[in-house]
Amino acid sequence: MLKIDKETFKKDYEEKFIEIHGKDLSEGTDYNKYEALASLTRDYVVKTWINTNKRYDITREKQVYYFSMEFLLGRLLDNALSNLGIRDICKEALNDLNINLDALEILEEDQGLGNGGLGRLAACFLDSMASLNIPGHGCGIRYKYGFFEQKIIDGSQVEAPDEWLKNGNVWAIKKSDKAQIVKFGGKVDMFSENGKIKFNHTKYEPVLAVPYDIPIIGYKNEVVNTLRLWSAEPLYDEFDFSSFSRGDHLKAIEYKNSIEAISQVLYPDDSFYEGKMLRLKQQYFFVSAGIQSIIRHFRTHVGSLKDLDERIAIHINDTHPTLAIPELMRIFMDEENFSWDEAWRMTTNIISYTNHTILAEALEKWPVEMFKSLLPRIYMIVEEINRRFCEELWNKYIGQWDKISKMAIISDGYVKMAHLAIVGSHSVNGVAKLHTEILKKQEMADLYYFYPKKFNNKTNGITHRRWLMRANPQLTDLLKETIGDSFIKHPTDMEAFEAYAGNRIVQERLQNIKFSNKKKLAEYLKFNQGISINPNSLFDVQVKRIHAYKRQVLNCLRIMELYRRLIENPNLDIIPRTFIFAGKAAPGYYLAKNTIELINAVANKINNDSRVNEKIKVVFVPNYRVSVAEAIIPAADLSEQISTTTKEASGTSNMKFMMNGAITIATLDGANIEIRDEVGDENIVIFGMTKKEVLDYYHKGGYSAWDMVNRDYRIKQVTEDIVNGFYCSDKEKFKSIYEHLITYNDEFFVLKDFDSYLKAQKRVDSLYRDSSKWQSMCAINIAHSGVFSSDRTIQEYATGIWGSGYLYKNL
Ligand SMILES: *Cc1c(COP(=O)(O)O)cnc(C)c1O
Repeated sequence: MLKIDKETFKKDYEEKFIEIHGKDLSEGTDYNKYEALASLTRDYVVKTWINTNKRYDITREKQVYYFSMEFLLGRLLDNALSNLGIRDICKEALNDLNINLDALEILEEDQGLGNGGLGRLAACFLDSMASLNIPGHGCGIRYKYGFFEQKIIDGSQVEAPDEWLKNGNVWAIKKSDKAQIVKFGGKVDMFSENGKIKFNHTKYEPVLAVPYDIPIIGYKNEVVNTLRLWSAEPLYDEFDFSSFSRGDHLKAIEYKNSIEAISQVLYPDDSFYEGKMLRLKQQYFFVSAGIQSIIRHFRTHVGSLKDLDERIAIHINDTHPTLAIPELMRIFMDEENFSWDEAWRMTTNIISYTNHTILAEALEKWPVEMFKSLLPRIYMIVEEINRRFCEELWNKYIGQWDKISKMAIISDGYVKMAHLAIVGSHSVNGVAKLHTEILKKQEMADLYYFYPKKFNNKTNGITHRRWLMRANPQLTDLLKETIGDSFIKHPTDMEAFEAYAGNRIVQERLQNIKFSNKKKLAEYLKFNQGISINPNSLFDVQVKRIHAYKRQVLNCLRIMELYRRLIENPNLDIIPRTFIFAGKAAPGYYLAKNTIELINAVANKINNDSRVNEKIKVVFVPNYRVSVAEAIIPAADLSEQISTTTKEASGTSNMKFMMNGAITIATLDGANIEIRDEVGDENIVIFGMTKKEVLDYYHKGGYSAWDMVNRDYRIKQVTEDIVNGFYCSDKEKFKSIYEHLITYNDEFFVLKDFDSYLKAQKRVDSLYRDSSKWQSMCAINIAHSGVFSSDRTIQEYATGIWGSGYLYKNL
């Protein structure tokens, strides 16, 4: 923990300001002041950062490398100040200088190098590893443009580039001396040397991978780990300039652009795979650079790679970094002269893999021709891994060709990345109990029965430091006052708060805190969108990526149904609600974009209807991202987690809401099940189809959307309202939603769950009327949210998969 007093801080800050801006503090803009503060904070971090790295080199603790194509960090300043333990001092010092810390913090651009849950999980994991003294580092891509900025124009999503670097970024330090060369294309020749087969890779296109290091600060513990993000630069030294010398200037620029394209932009797809060559290039680019730099570091500091598998662990977040497996094999064999068997033993010991989804459209597979031409040597290795694997299968499953071809890594002209990841690692984990079960018994059943010991569950988590302590300081204070502060280090200690669930004073405090967060959100929405909402209404919130399986349409349809009832009976006795939506649709995902349009059309109609305005309002908050989540979640009364059962692998926003004292309305999907197990049926509102019903429909068929329409007049009414001009004079506008639901017999069973959802919402209404009861439910949810801290998740990874960290060290 950094020791610094207010006066020193003031002096440092004023000096820093002058140093970087060349003018006096009094002449500075707020953004200038933010820059000086962030820059000073980074200076404070650097010494500890260097010391941490030195310590790791001396103690030779096992280093964990978390490889992920996405890291959704959000803002870093307030997290840095609080993890350093200097936020209070800093706030007071700035106050003396007439500067408001909160006002500066919100000027920071979100670092949005991820799509949603998967990227945010990676960010929470980095925070937990550092805070738990685990030597764990991130490896990814420094996209020039992060996740696109979403604007809502005339009710539709419009995408703009996310220029997060336009004002520079103080957090990353460019390490040019640690750059690596990554090779694409070319040809590979085999030759024999002293009786050994060797490979010569020529005519390849070299790309310079330059690392930018970002400090990951542990919570008050003198640990600063590293997130290393790679940027692609042209390598003029090795480029064939013969064409350039003829004056073909354009060629050189073309070359430069094609190289820089690799780290230019994050693909905006979530739970959907796009088989683009550039995407495969991105994957090999950061994986190869990351692994080369790890090996280089190890070579300089330790020497022999003999026991590398006891010194490092590499975790791959989904299949995107699976090329780590053949890349390690390549380095061990081609550069370190290991035998195949030795290289394979080492590689599989080092690599572990997390599966994130069972959605078929999300499973990565690359056309063999594309793979081979982009990565000729890597392809040879994958082919050999596949050949040896299939040989094992032939011996075990004699004559079962269908089974073998289904299990193979290469088949039907594709390289199947999940299969490569499972075969080439020692651990395969799902992200919630149900998801892991489905993985084992359904999606990857053949591979599970072949490698039963590899499969395990690690239920996701969220860092309570950001999602509780930073996002909800008032609730944090209430917890400290009632149960002490041990929960900060041991989040499951929050259970002690359950004893206060029936305490009237605590209930009132909870209610006041929620009200204050709701007022703040209302002000934020007034300021940013000019919309007025009533903080005395129930805030009913669904914020997440827009996706058919997440069923924003189900939520929208029940609002449409309620609206119809209110028009018919304006005196209908309901708790006033504000329905809040936020989320981005992938730019090429028509149905999701159409869903945003429907929500906005419904909002537009309802919000302008004075007959119902005292009772309901609908808000779509644009450009959902970490900082917006931090503003919305602490203000929520009701958390909508309504995915089709079996489709949401875990979910993590469900955990964030619970920790902030919202009540969950949910299907028994993903981690919702584990939330229910923690709080008990009486403290969560469950509805919808069971896993068995859903799987039966998938396996045996029998679902008829038309039956739903014909059997339930409410369903008939609301589905007609989609296309009868009630919400939009253009009746064709939402046709794709209507067709998806009915004509194409909706694979996500929205209409099937409609009735059960409405009944569940009615239960919410009556629970909320009993304020004391509601607050006690909130308290119980908060009390049981500790197990969903990513500290618990990371402890499980460390002891169960990586063999690193606290317990390991004390063996
Ligand atoms: C937590 C989070 C998510 C994940 O939300 P789910 O509801 O679990 O899909 C997505 N985006 C952001 C910005 C988040 O903070």
